[in-house]
Amino acid sequence: MSELQNKNSWYDADKAHHIHPFMDPKYFDKNHVRVITRGEGVYIWDAEGNKILDGMAGLWCVNVGYGRQELIDAANEQMKNLAYYNSFFQSSTPTQIELAEKLATITPQGIDHFFYANSGSEANDTVIRMARHYWSIQGKPTKRIFIGRHLGYHGSTLAATSLGGMKGMHDMGGSLLPEFEHIMQPHWYTLGAGLTPEEFGLKAAKALEDKILELGADNVAAFIGEPIQGAGGVIDPPSTYWPEIQRICKKYNILLVADEVICGFGRTGNWFGSDTYNIKPDMMPMAKGLSSGYIPIAAVGFSKEVYSVLAEGGHIAHGYTYSGHPVACAVALANINLMERDGIVEMVRDDTGPYFRKSLQQLADTHPIVGELRGAGLVAGLQLVKDKENKTIFTSEEGAGLICREHCIQHNLIMRMVDQAMVASPPLTITRDEIDEFTEKAKIGLDLTA
Ligand code: PLP
Repeated sequence: MSELQNKNSWYDADKAHHIHPFMDPKYFDKNHVRVITRGEGVYIWDAEGNKILDGMAGLWCVNVGYGRQELIDAANEQMKNLAYYNSFFQSSTPTQIELAEKLATITPQGIDHFFYANSGSEANDTVIRMARHYWSIQGKPTKRIFIGRHLGYHGSTLAATSLGGMKGMHDMGGSLLPEFEHIMQPHWYTLGAGLTPEEFGLKAAKALEDKILELGADNVAAFIGEPIQGAGGVIDPPSTYWPEIQRICKKYNILLVADEVICGFGRTGNWFGSDTYNIKPDMMPMAKGLSSGYIPIAAVGFSKEVYSVLAEGGHIAHGYTYSGHPVACAVALANINLMERDGIVEMVRDDTGPYFRKSLQQLADTHPIVGELRGAGLVAGLQLVKDKENKTIFTSEEGAGLICREHCIQHNLIMRMVDQAMVASPPLTITRDEIDEFTEKAKIGLDLTA
């Protein structure tokens, strides 16, 4: 059967049998989902034959673009050679070892041990268990509480949902609060009235100190934050924020966790968001760009100091059947090698990142419904406003974001909408011409929404 013949049966079967993440099943009352059948470079094709510019790199993950032969070959070779073996019980496989060694060369200084998982959510569950274990080993078992941020996103398992600050997710299926607390976002545009960004950055960081004092430092295990909040609306903090957070964590003996699941692997113009903001994390969960989304794999990086305590603590009673799946490790290794060979991180830092930002800044400066541009490198958020002068954001009932998203897709561009901001994170291989196409299409979407 040809693809076009297939599509109606796909639509029917999808509605009949498939439960989609983050979707209201009532959507099917009037619609069918878009079935994506192929990808190449920065483009994807749907079953209707539309060629679409993927401004989100899937879910912020296809960093090297679609269809890279090097990654396909790596998976193929590894499957032929050894499709599976675990890293439990005193065993290892070459790609598990070589990937850990490679990660130690590109992660921020001090991070040098890695534990594998399969998703960002599992990586963050690992962080929670390891952080509490770290304190227990040192005779401080009461240090259990994690402090995250409103609209922080750290995954969808029960623990990762609790770590995140998405109230709608806590409400569905419950959460593990109160052992998880949340402080304000460092979002100057909406929360910083009357303050300079620098003053506001200090105020947003002070919320951490206040929360630690309220809970008692003896009860707090760690603070977790994405260097740039992604799913919370691409919130890049003022320059004063991360240094102050770091100072506070040190002062109160709290572990600092940088969630690099989106920011890692070149997204912000450096290998890690922690490099961009000069963060020195104790633990660093990563996923998505680790394999450019070609295969599920995640890891948590640990600082020398944290690992040395864990190593003292004896048996590590934690692991997943697919921790360090050899095929996933082979693909991740090929992905990093390709990024190094093609200088992708440098390209984002020196060329395409600045070009993307300049194009979008022009749009933000001139478009009547764009209040500000946020982000760094090749991750961006355009805040939609109904009054640019007074920074009045559209309400969710007005739904400007959803309308804009639909106009974009009608013009074959995928952008996402978060809290009335249009967000983008295209493949890091996007060219200047493709950035021009992105900006033109985004402008059409915005014009039709205004
Ligand atoms: N952490 C961050 C910052 C994320 O953006 C995400 C997913 O978007 C996760 C963790 C969870 O990753 P996964 O969906 O692979 O479980």
